[in-house]
Parts: sequence; structure tokens; C-alpha cells
Amino acid sequence: MFEPILWVDLASLMKKEWVEETEKDQTLQLIKDRIIKGWSDKVKDVEETLRSYWNVRLELHVFNELVMRGERIVPPCKLWSKLVELAHEGHLGRSLTKNKLRATYWFPQMDSEVEKVVRDCWACAMSDKSHSTRKVPLSPVNIPVKPWDKLGLDILGPISHLGNKGQYMFVLVDYHSHWTMFKIVSQITTADAIKFLTEAFMREGIPSTLVTDNGVQFTSDNMKEFLKKWGVHHFRTALYNPKANGLVERMNRVMKECIQRARVSGMQSEVALNQMLWSYHTTPNTVTGLSPLQSLKGSQPGTKLNPNCLSGGEHVCEQRDVSAECFRKKQEKYVKWYNNKFGTKNKSWYVGQWVKVRLPRCTQGSDSKFSEPIKIKEVHRNVVRLQEGKVWSMDHIVPHRGRVDRCETGAAVMDNAEHSSGTLRRRESSRTWKAPQWHKDFVLLS
Ligand SMILES: [Zn+2]
Repeated sequence: MFEPILWVDLASLMKKEWVEETEKDQTLQLIKDRIIKGWSDKVKDVEETLRSYWNVRLELHVFNELVMRGERIVPPCKLWSKLVELAHEGHLGRSLTKNKLRATYWFPQMDSEVEKVVRDCWACAMSDKSHSTRKVPLSPVNIPVKPWDKLGLDILGPISHLGNKGQYMFVLVDYHSHWTMFKIVSQITTADAIKFLTEAFMREGIPSTLVTDNGVQFTSDNMKEFLKKWGVHHFRTALYNPKANGLVERMNRVMKECIQRARVSGMQSEVALNQMLWSYHTTPNTVTGLSPLQSLKGSQPGTKLNPNCLSGGEHVCEQRDVSAECFRKKQEKYVKWYNNKFGTKNKSWYVGQWVKVRLPRCTQGSDSKFSEPIKIKEVHRNVVRLQEGKVWSMDHIVPHRGRVDRCETGAAVMDNAEHSSGTLRRRESSRTWKAPQWHKDFVLLS
């Protein structure tokens, strides 16, 4: 008989402990008995606990008081989870954990035990590559009916070659007319943002809504107080969801390109930006036929191409309605295209559900792909507010399917389990899975 090469891997577990546990294990004792007395020819004739061993009965034998299947140990039931945990050390994936275990041990529920341990492993849940987020359908932002009613504010920078005034820019865009203002600054504190907004409001009027991201300068108490004083409703976009402030993001891109061109041609960035904006403001929009300047000020001023003496200076108030309608149509078309291209899907999230957040800007291979599991506090149209208070776009979250008891008590585990069999569970593939050749000597139980 061959000498099994086992004891190297088992250094951490005393042999005495093994023999003791094997003797205490009723199933293993029954197997030992069968090995001596012989197995029944029919599976239905053996005890229920032994049925999962019946297929491999011819390979089972006793060596050093332990039950073996070929060269592998059949461990007592009590040690199964401990062995799986040891095999998962270093957070190997499902397949590698199984392979590691298979090299030395065999027991009937081995695969499902591994699946369970990996699924419940906190570290693995945070870097789960099998999970992918799916884009939610784009819901169009309402275009304000009048100019300077809804504005988007953003910060660009740091950008080198912006001049001596600073490395940052505040960019303010009107959602209706696309009229854009900018200011180069050296600092981007709340006070700087307030100064910029005050100048803009005093020049063009007070809007009813201001859209920003969650930058600290926009979420501070001082900013809240300032906007409240001016009667401006503050709308903050979900975290890392720039498309919610799409117009500003697009303008940012145009401005960055302009700065790059200025650098190449040796022009001052601020001068180049002003030139570009003037040109943009006086050019009719391809969709509406109105220039931002016309939309905002009501008439088209003279330009180099169309001097005052030639332009009629007619009012465009009536045209505004037409232009808003044109925008809506274009927007509808874009939403349709976007939803088609990305195969967006409406997912149903519910308050109290455990989810993980796909962490943005995760470029390092070693970074966690997902946050720790966290509960949903509020569900809105396309965003959710999580328990820690942050708002995320639904594009960024995935359901958490494993255990949650690391941050909460047993109640939370049950809470999650309650929903795990509901409609929110990921659809399992209906493809039948065929075991590879090398699996042939293993009994796979789901
Ligand atoms: Zn793990």
C-alpha cells in the first residue's frame, strides 16, 4: 500500500485531534464499519448519511485510523469548515480554494462549503469580479422654460498654464441658454465660490436652482446659508455621476480643449477662453437656431460677421418656446440612443437592502473594487441615499449577497436572508454545466 503524503499540510492540526474527531464522528464510524463488512450493492440499501459516499465506496479505505479516499483524507464533519477556511487563506478565488482543498481532502459537500465561505468572506466581497454594475436608464433633466433659471456650477483644475491668476476655474452654465461664465482663481474655498456666484447673480440675476456636485465648497454650511439668503434651491448630483450635470461637464471639456490649443499657439489662456466663449455665445445652436446670447438677452448683438448695422436686433421671446421644444425633442432622441447603446435596465432597490458601491477611480489592481456592504436608507428616481448619508447613482451599486454580520448583529443577517430568495436575486444561468474531465473522481453537490 502507498504512503499518503499528508502530514506536511497538516502541521497545524495534531494527528491525535484527527483520530479523536474521526472516532467521534458517527458517519465516519459507519463508513469504517462498511469498509470492513462490505457495502450494499444498491444505494437505497445504505443509511441515508452514507449515500453521498456510496459512489466512491470502492476508493474508501482506512489508513492510520483515518478514513481515506485514495490518497485524500475524508475529514470528520466538524472540521469541514475549518479546513475550508484554511484553504481560503490568502483569499484565493473559488476555483483555487477548491483545488487547494482537493489536493489533500475529500468530503461530499466540499464544493458547496467553499462557495459558501467565499461568498461570505468580507475581503472577497469587496473585490468581487463577478459582480458588475449596470447602467440605469437615463432620465432627462427638465429644461427650464426661461433663461438664467437653472444654473450648473463646477470647478475645473488644477490646470497648469492657466496664467498667474491661479490654477483653478469656476464654470457656471445656464441650462436654458447655455450661456457660460468662468473665473480663474487660485483657491477654491467656499468663500471663493460665494464671491464668484455673487458677481454672477448681480450681473445676470438670481436663478431659482443651482446644480453642483458634492465638492466640500458646495456642501459647506456657509454655502447653504448663502444660497438660502438668495432664495436659490441647491440641487446636488449623486456622487461620481457627472452625467447628472452633463451640460457643465460638456462645457468643461470644451474649455479644456481651448486651454490646450492656447498653450500650443502660445496664447494667454484667459484671452483664448474669452474669445472662444464670445464665439460660442454668438453662434446659433444647431438644434434651436438661437445663439446663447439671443436666448439670454433676447436679441442678437452685432458680431464681426454680422455687424449691428446689418442685424435687425429683433426680439426672440416667442422663439424661446420653439427652442425649448427643439431641445426636448433632441433630448428624447439622445435618451433613446443612450438606453439602447448601454442596454440600461431599471433595477428595483428597496430601503434596508444591503448593497455594495463600485468604488470610482479604482485603477490600481490592488484597490478594492467595491465598498463594504451598506444599507440603503432612501430610494429616489435614479439615486439612492445610503446609511452613511451619501447619495449614489444606481449605476454605482450592486446587491450584496453574502453575510452582513460584520457590521450588525444577527438581526441583520436574517434581514438580508429574508430577501435573498426574492426577485432581486441575480438571475442564475440556465445553461447546464458539464464537469471537466479532471473532476471525474469528485462528487459534486450543489
Ligand atoms: Zn476571501
